[in-house]
Amino acid sequence: MSSPGLSLVEVVDVLRGLGVSRVLLQCAPGLRGDVLDSWCGFLSERGVDVVVSGSSCWGPCDVAVNECRLFGCDAVLHVGHWWFGCEGGVQVVWFGGVPVVFAPYFYDLDVGACCGDVVEVVRGRGFRRVLVCCTQQYYPLARYLVSVLRSCGVDVVCDRVTYLGCEVVNLRQFKGSIDCVVAVSGGYFLGVGFFCVFDGEVPVIQYDPHSRRFLDVGSVARRLIGIKLSRLVDLLSRGFERVGVVVSRKFGQCRFALAVRVRDFLRSRLRGVRVDLLVFDDVPLEVLDELPYDVYVNTACPRLGLDDVDRLRFKVLLNLGEVKYLISRSISGYRFSDVFGVPTWLVG
Ligand code: SF4
Repeated sequence: MSSPGLSLVEVVDVLRGLGVSRVLLQCAPGLRGDVLDSWCGFLSERGVDVVVSGSSCWGPCDVAVNECRLFGCDAVLHVGHWWFGCEGGVQVVWFGGVPVVFAPYFYDLDVGACCGDVVEVVRGRGFRRVLVCCTQQYYPLARYLVSVLRSCGVDVVCDRVTYLGCEVVNLRQFKGSIDCVVAVSGGYFLGVGFFCVFDGEVPVIQYDPHSRRFLDVGSVARRLIGIKLSRLVDLLSRGFERVGVVVSRKFGQCRFALAVRVRDFLRSRLRGVRVDLLVFDDVPLEVLDELPYDVYVNTACPRLGLDDVDRLRFKVLLNLGEVKYLISRSISGYRFSDVFGVPTWLVG
């Protein structure tokens, strides 16, 4: 059921259509070995000079346009993500005159067996109305799963199935109208996001097609949020003097104007507390631990304030929806969905 070959033929056609002779190849984490093995040779044999980017590639927010320019490449070939809100095929998005070709990569899986595993659980637990989601590498499996569930009489509420970690928040309107979320991905990442967006009130069936196991995302989410809250409570009881507002310079994460508003708001509300802007590419957690700030407010990828909190050794990293607890100096009323929340003072 894998289609890396199909994708590659389409990629070459797109690159030829753009007149690309040298391309900068960047791959999502976990794909680099497979993609570099098969894609570099295929492209070279067809006259495309490949330069491999070893930089991070966390999402479509993270495109190596500057590297592309620096090394005289005609385009970026970004493998493993689709552009925000898009699904299917090879896509071209232009960044300041540089074409970025977003190409899918699908894992070769026993789709029938994996679907069987999930359908058995969904039907066994009596779920009738579900949301199916996956990361891109599992797109063929998730599409097939949707058709099988529907043929069994289960109402799958969305046709789209692939979601980025920061897009889960766009689905919160389904809270109250679905019985469960089925998240298909090789790890906890996606399911933990849905657990939080729905405040732990909607069951999340997280299925890993590689191990063919179901994962308990609730315990992972509770542990991560528990670590954050215990550090925050400690901080609030000790008091704090310095706040760092984290800004990313990645194309799709850079929200500098918003970060300035956050800084100014915090300065106005936290008298006697120093608030500074801190600019990063990747946000190295060991640097956050080392810098002389007591707590950080994150305006970059919201997943930093969820997935990575246990990798910080000393400090607290809050997302925007959690800033209110810094202002009130209490965690009273905390909800899991605050991780993805946008404060009213920021949108109003
Ligand atoms: S902002 Fe974060 S979650 Fe969203 S695409 Fe980028 S890396 Fe992924």
